[in-house]
Amino acid sequence: MSAPTTVLVSYDQLDRRRGALGHARPDDHPILLVESEGMLRSRTWHAQRLHLVLSAAEHLARELEDDGFVVRRIRAASTADGVRQYRNENPDRRIVAAEPSSHGLMRTWTDVGVDLLPDDRFLTSRADFTGWAEGRKTLRMDAFYRWQRQRLGILMDSSDPEGGSWSFDAENRLPPPKGSHPWPTPVHFAPDETDVRVWADIVARDLPVTGSPPSGHWATTRAGALEQLRHFVDDVLPEFGPYEDAMPLDTWTVNHSLLSPYLNLGLLHASEVVDAVLARHARGDVPISSTEGFIRQVIGWREYVNGMYWLLPDDYRDRNGLDAARPLPRALEEPGSTRMECVRSVVADVHERGWTHHIPRLMVLANLSLIAGVRPSELLDWMRRMFVDAADWVMVPNVIGMGVAADDGLMMTKPYAAGGAYLSRMGRYCKGCAFDPKKRVGDDACPFTTLYWDFIDRHRDTFASNPRMAQQVRGLDRLADLDDLRVRAREVLALLDSGEL
Ligand code: SF4
Repeated sequence: MSAPTTVLVSYDQLDRRRGALGHARPDDHPILLVESEGMLRSRTWHAQRLHLVLSAAEHLARELEDDGFVVRRIRAASTADGVRQYRNENPDRRIVAAEPSSHGLMRTWTDVGVDLLPDDRFLTSRADFTGWAEGRKTLRMDAFYRWQRQRLGILMDSSDPEGGSWSFDAENRLPPPKGSHPWPTPVHFAPDETDVRVWADIVARDLPVTGSPPSGHWATTRAGALEQLRHFVDDVLPEFGPYEDAMPLDTWTVNHSLLSPYLNLGLLHASEVVDAVLARHARGDVPISSTEGFIRQVIGWREYVNGMYWLLPDDYRDRNGLDAARPLPRALEEPGSTRMECVRSVVADVHERGWTHHIPRLMVLANLSLIAGVRPSELLDWMRRMFVDAADWVMVPNVIGMGVAADDGLMMTKPYAAGGAYLSRMGRYCKGCAFDPKKRVGDDACPFTTLYWDFIDRHRDTFASNPRMAQQVRGLDRLADLDDLRVRAREVLALLDSGEL
């Protein structure tokens, strides 16, 4: 970059070593951070999400100042207004930034004349992904993941996958262990002076927040993110695989890495996470099912979702292929308002920490929305504001394509729909529930079981022609109590709509 050039830093691009910041020098490159009041007040954010984003950015700003950079923070009605204000004050300056991570911000920065440098926060550039997708009839994650493994040379024995299989997913589906289990103890991150000040500022400004206030679950610095990475690799990784999908009640972390917030804010880069995991794997004491399962999440799912976000048009977020028209259930906003124990427990977790692992997200929250027919846009908005690791590029494909199958099968071959049998096998919620997971009719029938069959029934014409769903349609036709089930389903949906379920 030739001076005079200002580096505009996005709140989710906090990596000093990459993007526009990677080129910055204290004497030549003032730093600009724009805080959009409109964005902060656009939704009721989870308190811990808002705090994490603002405090991580403030920590970076202070670190840059300590290293001699001039850092300008502007609070404006919108990001565009903030950049315009800076440009008026500094008319001769060129402003550069790394490509932003959302379609909306891309439009904004283009409109206000910010020069963009390539986004290098991923292992797969947007051009690489487009090249992979070109000419393919289907864009499935499995095919992309194999391509990634081969292209990046990760877990490969020459041209074959290490361990003889591309995926060990089948080994990673154990239900929660019976009795007590030595789950890892999560790292606690004591708040520092900046964390305290940022939270006090959120409170003083009366920014709209929900959920529990920050209480040390999430690091707000790169040092903290590295500590979490070390904890995962040293203490957690070997057990990651077997219980990857399990939903026990005696741990909120299970053996998950808790690294997604840091990856998505730029406090960690995917390459250093992959390198650390492969170095641990090379010691020979981590099962391939754990290493491969984790690597698939990072170089497979995460990169695939980002690639799809940029490949698809921005209006993909509005897809509603199953014509779902129900409002967001009250149970998601008010954890104590439902008798469905699985939903109550998962929503309580989300309100307490802004996080729950991928299976409660997919098989409880999104599944309920899918089989009840909740408007995809409402679930998308809720997910975006409630999770500490949420971002537009994360949530749009995950919710629209994967969670509620609203894209006519573009991403997934079948909807992730399940009844109480799955939740009762993979979770420990049902024992404490007012409903019976085995029942699909009657007052104590599990709403998931009832709505699962009703969902197949409502969309039977669509699913009958899907080879992966046709069997479920045939199963539906064998139900002797289908008429009763339809009646119960209407009751369940009415209770859901009135917030009494
Ligand atoms: Fe959830 Fe149904 Fe089990 Fe209750 S019985 S916890 S609603 S799956």
